[in-house]
Order: sequence, then structure tokens, then C-alpha cells
Amino acid sequence: MKHTDVLVIGAGPAGTVAAAIIKKAGFNVEIVEKTQFPRFVIGESLLPRCLEGMEEAGFLPALQAQGFQEKWGAKFVLGDKVCDFTFADQHAKGYNYAWQMPRADFDMTLANECERMGIPVHYLSELTAIEMNEDGSSISTIQKENGETWQVHAKFIVDGSGYGRVIPRLFNLEMPPGLPTRKTIFCHMEDPKRMEMVEPNRIVVYAQDTDCWIWTIPFSTGITSVGFVADPSYFEPFGSDEDIRAKYLRLLENDPNTAYRFKDAAMKFEPRILQGWSATSSSFYGKGYVLTGNVTEFLDPIFSSGVTLATVSSQKAAHLVVKHLQGEQVDWENDYMKFMEQGVDVFRTYVKAWYTGDLYKIFFAEYKDPLIKSQICSVLAGYVWDDSNPFVKNHQKAITSLIKFLEREQS
Ligand SMILES: Cc1cc2nc3c(=O)[nH]c(=O)nc-3n(C[C@H](O)[C@H](O)[C@H](O)COP(=O)(O)OP(=O)(O)OC[C@H]3O[C@@H](n4cnc5c(N)ncnc54)[C@H](O)[C@@H]3O)c2cc1C
Repeated sequence: MKHTDVLVIGAGPAGTVAAAIIKKAGFNVEIVEKTQFPRFVIGESLLPRCLEGMEEAGFLPALQAQGFQEKWGAKFVLGDKVCDFTFADQHAKGYNYAWQMPRADFDMTLANECERMGIPVHYLSELTAIEMNEDGSSISTIQKENGETWQVHAKFIVDGSGYGRVIPRLFNLEMPPGLPTRKTIFCHMEDPKRMEMVEPNRIVVYAQDTDCWIWTIPFSTGITSVGFVADPSYFEPFGSDEDIRAKYLRLLENDPNTAYRFKDAAMKFEPRILQGWSATSSSFYGKGYVLTGNVTEFLDPIFSSGVTLATVSSQKAAHLVVKHLQGEQVDWENDYMKFMEQGVDVFRTYVKAWYTGDLYKIFFAEYKDPLIKSQICSVLAGYVWDDSNPFVKNHQKAITSLIKFLEREQS
């Protein structure tokens, strides 16, 4: 049996950021990771706010050395209408760029940095069971790929298992998602015509109408990630999921923004399908453990909020775990759960407003006030805890009032 101060489940952004911050505070940390890195995971466009977590974890120099495609803003296109946000113009004082990159490379960099800091990362090691002790310490069972098991005694557990949702499943914390089921079909494409585009390396969200939207995320490798997101029924006329390649080609051909650019372009792997990713947990903490990243709650990919919420939650959780290990009292409910819910709620309002079409009325309106635009831009940069921003503090009201104002202007 191994002994450690903190056991971290998962070596994604949530797990590695938490592990590094706790290690830097002087505690022993071990990470168990089910897969062997580099591994594929979706979530290839970051927001500036997540760089703060990377900085505190000590990951920035290694990330900056990777040559990932820099992302300076967000662009939404509906037919001939364009809504273009530049992070440098945002209301919040913070980072004004992020990255677009294959997550396999990004997450590998984070995990390597953890190892460099002296944090063991146990690959091909799946946490399968946890026995909690009275004092909040625990004994976890880890299964290796060859079926062998080992155990680890930890004073505290950080669950950063993402879509694995380890503790919510083991401790019955699963809650029905509050958003309708959506589906995506996506692939990594060669992109030889990229330089013919107006801004070749820029991430663009193409809105068809409120039924379907498309992400194009160019990487610095020349490969571009292209994904279609919609209600599952939208995809039915495009053929069977059994012949996913043909279906994906039909989707590409069907949209003028992808038809020409990706005609005859090679696919880097067979297109993939994901469906029903929204998830939430009834509590984000308990005696001896905390959930971070996707395990707490994941909403929707439209505003690229996933990794940002993952790293902010891990930053926050890591500070509180350190406090707890130092023998101080921690108010998990207010200082963690309510804090995280506050940020998630802001994004939830924007996600819902995107799918109802309300945000289209704002993004694609003729009238654009620079101050309001800078405030909305801050939300899209991930600064969703900044109460000096009315589009954060009174998110729903600010959107509704702005739409009313725009409607009055038009009539
Ligand atoms: C279609 C789609 C598009 C998206 N696009 C974006 C985007 O553009 N930008 C963005 O920021 N986010 C995006 N996301 C969200 C993003 O994928 C996640 O929010 C992000 O990966 C969460 O990071 P994490 O560290 O919490 O979890 P993960 O990155 O999933 O890492 C969790 C790790 O835990 C490991 N694990 C799981 N179970 C166990 C176990 N039992 N034992 C040990 N290890 C385990 C897994 O193997 C994995 O490596 C998207 C999501 C979807 C569905």
C-alpha cells in the first residue's frame, strides 16, 4: 500500500493543475490516469482565463514553448454577418490570448510538467473503488491494465476524472443534466486551402441557424478540427451513424463554409460522434474529497468554457485542500461550491441564449456599442467571476435588456 497526502484522479487539465499547486505548497501528490498519454480528448480551444491556472501551476513556460496556435479572440459568422471579439478589447484586466491545439499534446505537456516537479503520474491505472475512513482519509483501489491491483492510502482525494465521473458514480452524486441532449460529429482535417481564408488561423464558429453550428479550429500543425453540433435529430437526413465517414462528408458538403475549404481534404482519423455530454453532480465536495473540472459540471462546447472551468475549479480546490491539510477550517460550501456555481451559471445563461437564438440578436445586430461589446467579450474570455462587469453580475437581465433595446432601435 502506498501512502500520500493527496491522490488525484485523472491527468487532464483539472487533475494536473490541482496536483501542481498542492505539490508546490509542500505536500505529496500522486496522480492515477486510466489511459496512456498522449491520448485524444476533445476541447481544443482555450479561453484566456485558464492561463491564470496554468501560470499558478507553473506550466506556462512549457506551454509557451510548444508553439501552439495563439488565439486572440472569438469569431461568429451567420451567413454574411460577422461578430468578431478581440480579447485585447475586453472589460476585464487579464490575459488577452489563449491557444488552439490538439489536446493530446497539451495534456501531455501538463502531465510531463507534473512529473518534472516530482509528482508521480501512474498511467494505465484506473481507480475502481474508494473506501472512506472516519477521519476523511481513504483507501483507493487502482487497477493496472494487466488486471493487477494496488492500493493507495490518501489524506485527501481530488477527483479530476472528467467524463469518467469517478466519485459521482461511486458515491451516487449524479444529477440529471439541465440542458437538452446534443450531438456532435467531428474530425481533424488536412487544411491545404487555409491560407485562402480571410483570417486563416482564426477559430470560427459558423452558425447555420439555431439548429446547427460548426466549429473550425485551426492548429499550428496545419490540421484543423471541424465539428458539427446540433440536436441529434438534425443529423438523421445525413445518413446512418454506421457509415460515419459518408455522413461527415455530407455534412461538410452541405455547408458553404466547409464545402469548398475541405473538399477532398484528408481526414486524420475516422470522424467521431459524441452525444449527451452535459452532466452535473449534487455536491462538488465531501469529507475527504473534492471534485474538479468536468466532474463538477459540464455544460456545452459553444463557448469553449470546459478547460477554463476545469482549471479555475482546480486552482480554487487546490488552495482549499492545502488549507485543510494545514489543519485550517474550510468552508467548502461557500468558498468552493457556490463560487464555482456562480461562474457556471453565467456560462449557462449564455449557452441557453445561444440555442434560443437570443444571442444571435445581439451578436449579429447592426448596432454594436463598444463598451457592451467589451463586457460580453470578457465573458467569452472566461472572466465570469468579475462582478464589475454587468454582463457577469446581472447576466440574464443584461442580455434581456439589451435585446429589448436592440428591438426598439430596429422598429
Ligand atoms: C464536443 C465538445 C467540444 C468541446 N470543446 C471544448 C473547447 O473548445 N474548449 C474547452 O475548453 N473545452 C471544450 N470541451 C470540454 C472539454 O472536453 C472538457 O471540459 C475538459 O477536457 C475537462 O478537463 P478535465 O481535466 O476535467 O477532464 P479530462 O480532460 O476528461 O481529463 C480527465 C482524465 O481522467 C482520466 N480518468 C477517467 N476515469 C478515470 C479513472 N477511473 N481512473 C483514473 N483516471 C481516470 C481520463 O482518462 C482523463 O485523462 C468540449 C467538450 C465537448 C463534448
